[in-house]
Amino acid sequence: MKLLLHMCCGPCSCYPVKKLREEGIEPTGYFFNPNIHPYKEWDMRLKTAREFADKVGMEFHADEHYRLLDFLKKALPAEALPNGRCQMCYTWRLEETARFAAEHGFDAFTSTLFYSIYQQHDLMRRTAEHFAEKYGVVFHYEDFRPGWQEGIDISHDLGLYRQPYCGCIFSEEERYSREIRKQRKKENKAKKRARLEREAREAREAASNIRGGC
Ligand code: SF4
Repeated sequence: MKLLLHMCCGPCSCYPVKKLREEGIEPTGYFFNPNIHPYKEWDMRLKTAREFADKVGMEFHADEHYRLLDFLKKALPAEALPNGRCQMCYTWRLEETARFAAEHGFDAFTSTLFYSIYQQHDLMRRTAEHFAEKYGVVFHYEDFRPGWQEGIDISHDLGLYRQPYCGCIFSEEERYSREIRKQRKKENKAKKRARLEREAREAREAASNIRGGC
């Protein structure tokens, strides 16, 4: 099978490439990530993806245009919707991968996004399936997440640059802003409290139903 592997970066490609090769599939890498900013970070991730491909002897293609303005034009309206920005980001990258695969004679495509334990796996899977149908190319689904630690170890062995945030300028702020981190902690605490209260209420209701039954 001729498989196009969308690469979000070098480190996230380590485990999927190993796994696919173990299955007898020789992937071709494709770097298309208009979500990565600022320029130096995008350039570094592109270089690292290419370095990885060279080191493991994998064919590699890349979109070498830095697309900050295009990204912002899509991301800013999407910010108003729940999950909107990330959904747009998955959609853009997976659609482009499906289109590239169909136009360049690949039988199937997949993405290293399915290795990430931080991304919205099921949403990405549905998105990829949608574009597979639209472009008439197979979406090769694999859940690469069980290889999370192994992938990290391989990336260290290969001496690859490992990025500290997801990609866009919003995720960079979320990673480093103390204010946002504090807010997140507060929200998580509130969610936990609500969950514990709900569980306690359900337990009380179940106990009173048992008593009523007697
Ligand atoms: S947080 Fe990550 S997935 Fe979401 S829009 Fe930014 S780069 Fe894309």
